[in-house]
Amino acid sequence: MALLRVTLGTCPTCLAAVPASLVLEDGMVHLVKHCPEHGDTSTLVAKDGPAWAELAAFYEEMMAPLPGIGDKNLNLPLTDRCNLACPICFTRSGPRRGDEREPSPGDVARLLAGVTGAKVQLYGGEPTVRNDLPDIVTAVIASGNVPVLATNGLLLAEEGVLDELRAAGLGEVHIQLDGLSGQGDNTLRGRDVSAVKRKALEALEKAGMPTGLECTLARDVNDGAVAELLTYALDHHFVRGVFFRSYGHLGIAGLGPTARLRVEEVVSMVADASNGRITPAGWTTVQKALYAAFNLLGVPSCLYNQFYPVLRRPDGTWTAAEELVDVEGLDDALERFRVTRHRLRWGAAAQLATEVLPLVREPGLVRTLLSAAVQPLAGVGPLDTLATPGLLVVGAGSLCDPDTFDLTYSLRCDAGLVVRDGEPWLTQSLDTLREERRHGEG
Ligand code: SF4
Repeated sequence: MALLRVTLGTCPTCLAAVPASLVLEDGMVHLVKHCPEHGDTSTLVAKDGPAWAELAAFYEEMMAPLPGIGDKNLNLPLTDRCNLACPICFTRSGPRRGDEREPSPGDVARLLAGVTGAKVQLYGGEPTVRNDLPDIVTAVIASGNVPVLATNGLLLAEEGVLDELRAAGLGEVHIQLDGLSGQGDNTLRGRDVSAVKRKALEALEKAGMPTGLECTLARDVNDGAVAELLTYALDHHFVRGVFFRSYGHLGIAGLGPTARLRVEEVVSMVADASNGRITPAGWTTVQKALYAAFNLLGVPSCLYNQFYPVLRRPDGTWTAAEELVDVEGLDDALERFRVTRHRLRWGAAAQLATEVLPLVREPGLVRTLLSAAVQPLAGVGPLDTLATPGLLVVGAGSLCDPDTFDLTYSLRCDAGLVVRDGEPWLTQSLDTLREERRHGEG
């Protein structure tokens, strides 16, 4: 058994912060924790230990030791109410929740005073249940920030709702979509919502709204969603992102921890759905390239929330990032950057660019990719904007839960800062997990 790293985790029973270690055993990576009260626990993090360790080592070197935590992505909860009552909801939102914790448009303006250029994710509960949502969108824009709507989409299917938000200036929507067939809806959402979601997608397409599809994946529940949604995303140009994130086991949905998928499994499902044009090895090298870019731009990122760009051509065909470049050559150049950047950071970056340029197969498409990657200079996270036509961002990741929580990575969570009751606190931090548990018990 080899020790890879020590960190802090959570005891899955009492949620206390406990010492944790990532260890390599029989070629696999485990997160091992010890709670003085509830004993030892171990969670499998990756079956392909060497591949995980290679990417994690690169990631850890590239990330700044004390990153600015999510300072360009703010999550703003607007309500606890929701028109769904999903069994897996970690905020335990639903129709019976009250409206006590709903900031007014004026509150939003005050909360954002002094913040500019940030992407502000409006979420809940379900933000569209608020009649004054267009006023909140207007308040966010007036504060000099970029509003993004995170929604279950049910109300977007209704006549005029999207038009009003569009008129207020909304330019990006992330819609929860766990597949197109409704395969896992009863388990994940409490009822089949596939028909109304299709209507919402039609409305988003009609409005030409840059849209991200947000899929929660659970093993043996909606495995078919990956192929369905990847195909749909590639065929519909209003879709600029498709994000597959594994269910996190909070013990509240009647699903066991085996429903959780490891990131490597999600990546492998995406690779299968792409008919092998996206490969796990190519995905790893692309992550390294992104981490190198994040390093140069000072952008934090979680190891368990990964992105992969796909470029679309005007003729309807598409190209995976790894098809644009000699992947092996890129990997070698990134490893050299890893060593040389310690001596002269920007000199190493220039050397990396010089080495990578001859490896590029289609410079025109790479320019599209770079235009998205430099978005942080405009104040929005890299590949976190859906504003670039011609680019589809594919995401694979997992949500922290009490078994998998790892403080080292959580500190770089790009889900950003949550403002609640006027106080800032971190998503997926210990506090969040404890709040989830409280709701689960309530
Ligand atoms: S739609 Fe979202 S906020 Fe509403 S109950 Fe489901 S998970 Fe919770």
